[in-house]
Amino acid sequence: MLDNLSGRLAGVVKSLRGQARITEANVQDTLRQVRLALLEADVALPVVKDFIEAVKTRALGQEVLTSLSPGQALIGIVHEELTRLMGGENADLNLAATPPAVILMAGLQGSGKTTTSGKLALLLKNRKKKVLLASADVYRPAAIDQLRQLATQVDVSFFEAGDERDPLKIAQAAQDHARKQFYDVLIVDTAGRLAIDEAMMAEIRALHAAVKPVETLFVVDAMQGQDAINVARAFNEALPLTGVILTKLDGDARGGAALSVRHITGKPLKFIGVGEKPTGLEAFHPERMAQRVLGMGDVLSLIEQAQGSVDMAEARKLADKVKKGKDFDLEDFKSQIQQMRKMGGLSALMDKLPGAGQMAPPAGVDDKSVNRLEGIINSMTPQERRKPEIIKASRKRRIAAGAGVQVQEVNKLLKQFEQAQKMMKMMGKGGISKMMRGMKG
Ligand code: GDP
Repeated sequence: MLDNLSGRLAGVVKSLRGQARITEANVQDTLRQVRLALLEADVALPVVKDFIEAVKTRALGQEVLTSLSPGQALIGIVHEELTRLMGGENADLNLAATPPAVILMAGLQGSGKTTTSGKLALLLKNRKKKVLLASADVYRPAAIDQLRQLATQVDVSFFEAGDERDPLKIAQAAQDHARKQFYDVLIVDTAGRLAIDEAMMAEIRALHAAVKPVETLFVVDAMQGQDAINVARAFNEALPLTGVILTKLDGDARGGAALSVRHITGKPLKFIGVGEKPTGLEAFHPERMAQRVLGMGDVLSLIEQAQGSVDMAEARKLADKVKKGKDFDLEDFKSQIQQMRKMGGLSALMDKLPGAGQMAPPAGVDDKSVNRLEGIINSMTPQERRKPEIIKASRKRRIAAGAGVQVQEVNKLLKQFEQAQKMMKMMGKGGISKMMRGMKG
């Protein structure tokens, strides 16, 4: 996510860090690089201009030039201004309404509206809300099916509209049903078009007037680049939006819209879509995003994600073993791999680690090779997993054949495992400092 931007900005940050003297020329040069990086990431021009101006005014003031660590001070300003640009604080969903609180989903076709409706339903269900999903997209029967399937997948109720073909009537009937059945939240998915047209705007305006949503969320695809902002502006003028959701930030979109949306529309970016699955939705935290973009990592989101997906019992078992200096076996190795996968895979993790977003993973380690590792371990017998030292040539050949890999790969895995095991033993016995020494040796 935003890899190029954070790569470039992290470079700027690195060159500033520890600079003992900063001159006006340094500041100008830094700002020029930041400006280029933002423009390349598709951040809207007026946004870039205002941002650079704000940083410049502060950077040329006393704050930086007289600071004891001017480089650090300048980084601090860029971080603060980036945070402010994106809205300052996280804006959560507002559900303060007489139940059911209605959430109206707006956006162009293909933006990810339906998928995001399902993601939001799951998020609210996890917050112990009783959620009803309804589709007012009468133009595409497939869209209704898609939402019905999503509802089943995330296990929330779906409103069946029967033969009704009028989006207004469907939405009202859903609201009625939600009221009678004591739902906390009703999410109404609406029809999208391929481009903004008056008929669509009139329809969604009528829907808005009929169901009086507390949240009117505009869903937009980050891959649209600069266009995402133009569409957002048009919707914002036609409808009283309460927030924006930017989807597909997991792809290689340049992602500048994440930085521009707030400034251009005045509406908060509430969530970002980071995957096709129902769990691929993250609350948007401007400060954390600014950190991520500056290559400082987003450890907080990582922890939240870990809490949501890691099997704590499993993690504790492992920590216990390490503490006691017990043998770390291939079964544990596999469980580590699985935990990592649950947290979105290696690339998702790297994205949030300080400085790691710009780093390539260690040679030969990527999500695919991690899958292969698991495949190899799966081809072993329980006894082999517990006592890898018994794996000699003939067993290696059998395992390799079972996993569909070359024998060398089995050897490589055993070597990697041995290293991990050594490290675990050292952590168990002598703590981190000993481990560092061990790694050097
Ligand atoms: P709608 O026409 O606006 O309802 O769009 P859909 O919900 O059908 O989504 C269009 C496509 O985008 C589908 O293939 C989704 O799986 C995909 N999609 C939606 N959100 C995301 C996201 O955050 N990341 C990725 N990678 N794909 C997404």
